[in-house]
Amino acid sequence: MPSYVIALLFLTSLAQAPRREDSRYHQTIERVLALLPERPAQVVIVDPDQAGAEIRGTLLRMEAFITKGGRVVYLTSHGEALQGALKGWSLHEYILASIIWHEMAHIHGADEVEAQRREEALWIRYVMDERVDPGDGMRYLSGLKSRRSKDTKVQPGDAVLTLKGPLMTAAIAVIGPTAPLSKR
Ligand SMILES: [Zn+2]
Repeated sequence: MPSYVIALLFLTSLAQAPRREDSRYHQTIERVLALLPERPAQVVIVDPDQAGAEIRGTLLRMEAFITKGGRVVYLTSHGEALQGALKGWSLHEYILASIIWHEMAHIHGADEVEAQRREEALWIRYVMDERVDPGDGMRYLSGLKSRRSKDTKVQPGDAVLTLKGPLMTAAIAVIGPTAPLSKR
């Protein structure tokens, strides 16, 4: 086989690799969004390693976040819930759904306390409807509730980022009914 054909095949497989990865995220996130009472406008998965150094540290500490005034729910690719959901673990899919629900509450104007309340309310519904294992469900719920009991200062598990530009370069999958965001 001429070497250029091999080179071409190699290039083609390189070009397809991210797309396969992308569809894996799509299938997983679609499964997770089906667990929500309502869909977010858009979900974008970002890889902290591909983000600018100035926000990488912040992204590595978070599973999910939104940007100020934005309508997109961002998930970080290393997040524990997302990683479990990608493996098809049901509990993690429900946890990820409730995390997305928390971010959607922020998008609708909720402060941290209110976002946590809505996240817990959805989780309680999953437990009551026996969609998650009762033992796992109650354990996770007590973890959620313990966020508030520490002191009056809320421990944020997420953040509202004011950055816009450098973030989209780190996007590895865009899921939503709307067209993918153009780079700004
Ligand atoms: Zn929050």
